[in-house]
Amino acid sequence: MQPSGNLHIGNYLGALKNWVRIQSDYEAIFCIVDMHAVTVYQNPDELRAKIRELAALYLAAGIDPKQSTIMVQSAVPAHAELCWMLTCVTPVGWLQRMTQFKAKAAEQETVGDGLLQYPVLMAADILLYQAAIVPVGEDQTQHLELTRDIAQRFNSLYGETFVMPETSLPSVGARIMGLDDPTKKMSKSAPGSGHAVALLDPPATIRKKIMRATTDSAPGVDFDVLSPGVANLLGIFQAFSGWDDAQMRAHFSGMRYGELKKQVADMVIANLEPLQKRYNEIVSEKGYVDAVLREGAERVTPIANATVELVKRRMGLYTPC
Ligand code: AMP
Repeated sequence: MQPSGNLHIGNYLGALKNWVRIQSDYEAIFCIVDMHAVTVYQNPDELRAKIRELAALYLAAGIDPKQSTIMVQSAVPAHAELCWMLTCVTPVGWLQRMTQFKAKAAEQETVGDGLLQYPVLMAADILLYQAAIVPVGEDQTQHLELTRDIAQRFNSLYGETFVMPETSLPSVGARIMGLDDPTKKMSKSAPGSGHAVALLDPPATIRKKIMRATTDSAPGVDFDVLSPGVANLLGIFQAFSGWDDAQMRAHFSGMRYGELKKQVADMVIANLEPLQKRYNEIVSEKGYVDAVLREGAERVTPIANATVELVKRRMGLYTPC
């Protein structure tokens, strides 16, 4: 995840909650991608603080640093090295076609080269560790397809080098929409105080945002004709509660929107309150987050360097005898 803006329930349900669930099944590496964040201008002091905040949120959500690795992208120079090598095998047309590039570029007066290279750096983040599975939200599926295309192109040019990574999406919560406009993905950068519920929002703010969420003019929930706003609220509840479809229908059919929103707010608050409590404990322990990040970078550096060495040899770049 990028350490920019405020982490919201879309990030949590689409990615972080899933990471916590699967961490015991895999050897997992969770990266804080600060070099991706600077593809658009970031205030340096804020970025420094956001990196630690994001690491503390990973920990508060339940990532166990003894079991999994939490690290910062720029602390492992191999990410940038591999990115360059992959850039050299990536046709620029592939990058110009990326939906996220087109959307972000449209918001900028001057489009930095980093914004175009963004998915190549992401491919490097993944291929560097020969990752088999990448758990992300739905918005990242196109970048994952590109990662496989880049890996395949490299393998066909230079011989089998990279493992083909698979995309893993959560069954519910893969795409949480904005509360104010449920036709748009909930996003860190979208303006408007009613758009996203941030993980660190106080309970009263969470309730206010959810009670104001856009629905429609029908009297209550009808599962046969769900408008985007109502479907989004139900999706948020289902992803937090873990209820199956039958439970959702039995409980919410015919419910008036005011009561639906109240129950969604209760569910979100009940899940975020313990996370926020843990977050406060973690940040009050001086030096803890930095120690986790330092250890994480130390743990993965040998894996990352071994891949860079292999890629250099494959490409014929200089490696000392
Ligand atoms: P980013 O905001 O780009 O740092 O995304 C971090 C992770 O959160 C990625 O795995 C995204 O796919 C996921 N994500 C971001 N926004 C949403 C959303 N609205 N719904 C579900 N997952 C999301």
